[in-house]
Amino acid sequence: MPKNIVVLGAGVSGLTTAYLLSKDPVNQVTVLAKHMPGDYDIEYASPWAGANYMPVGKEGSKHQEWERNTWAPLKEITEKHPEAGIHFLNTLIYNRKKDQGSATGDWFSELVKPNPWYKDVVPDFKSIPKEKLSGDMDNAQQFTSVCINTAIYLPWLVGQCVKNGAVFKRAVLKHITEAASAHHTGQPADVVVNCTGLASKILGGVADGKMYPARGQIVVVRNDAGSMYSTSGTDDGPDEALYTMTRAIGGGTILGGTYQKHNWDALPDPNIANRIMKRAIAVAPQLVKPGQGIEGLDIIRHGVGLRPLREGGPRLEKDEVKGVKIVHNYGHGGFGYQASFGCANEVVSLVKEVLQSKIRAKL
Ligand code: FAD
Repeated sequence: MPKNIVVLGAGVSGLTTAYLLSKDPVNQVTVLAKHMPGDYDIEYASPWAGANYMPVGKEGSKHQEWERNTWAPLKEITEKHPEAGIHFLNTLIYNRKKDQGSATGDWFSELVKPNPWYKDVVPDFKSIPKEKLSGDMDNAQQFTSVCINTAIYLPWLVGQCVKNGAVFKRAVLKHITEAASAHHTGQPADVVVNCTGLASKILGGVADGKMYPARGQIVVVRNDAGSMYSTSGTDDGPDEALYTMTRAIGGGTILGGTYQKHNWDALPDPNIANRIMKRAIAVAPQLVKPGQGIEGLDIIRHGVGLRPLREGGPRLEKDEVKGVKIVHNYGHGGFGYQASFGCANEVVSLVKEVLQSKIRAKL
């Protein structure tokens, strides 16, 4: 008996969930969304991400488990599907103890600490000896990570879903229960998967007051940094950050950034953009020709995205609203890609539980 599933949202959370669900031929999947890959909008976080795999989940947490479980699928896609827009990249992480306690320092505290849990997950992990570090750095590490060209990867995920029979429709819903009557077969959905990111704060039937944004401003340039770089913080303010990510297959280099909690401003701030570019050149001078400053950067675009953060962490759980069975998958903050498969796999199990309980209820 086919199962009718509506996935609400076409960011990385919705698309990864729809991709895994659509692999099972019994599932008939409709993906419903206001924004789709190709759109750039402040309400749509996924296109703005770098994106890379730099684990930040605390040891022993669900967050750690989701990130741990996402490395293998991302590695497999990188190796087997070059057309998905992901490549391996040497990665350098620098830590200054003085950054702990700041918004950026807390966000990256697990990533930058010596001997982190992920050293056994990513390849080529090694600590950089202290004598090779510049004055204010306390420790540093190097490993191989992935960098995802989101402009290629999100459409690739759409393609995989469509190949598996999923149907995509545009819609703007006021209430989560409306999704139940939007399945492409015209039949009611057996279950709705809510992947609406930050919009879960206002979506009727969800209205999750724990959701808030962490504003991320970026500059995308044509220059190539070679490796990826990230630091625990900057001297420009507690919520400014420093990272570079050179995307696969001509995606340019993302220079970041900021981590401004509760800031909804969609417009790039030119002063912040200047600081982002200066910091990037300081950590990766090879971005420009010798002697050049930010005038040597060739800008593609300035951008702002809102990371969908949730107090207490992402919400992955079963729910029921006005008789509609729902599974939630939202609130992935600044780690939606690097936790995508870990979360989506768990959500697939929750969907199976819902479908089985419906079968049992009919017997
Ligand atoms: P979104 O991408 O926001 O998608 C939400 C979807 O729901 C959209 O399709 C939207 O249209 C739809 N929707 C919402 N409301 C409705 C409605 N009422 N009706 C219909 N449709 C609706 N993560 C990493 O792992 N690595 C990184 O390097 C990284 N870098 C980042 C850099 C920046 C600058 C930013 C901003 C984020 C970064 N992130 C990174 C975080 C990552 O981008 C997010 O965690 C992720 O994109 C969240 O995806 P999502 O699918 O949950 O939400």
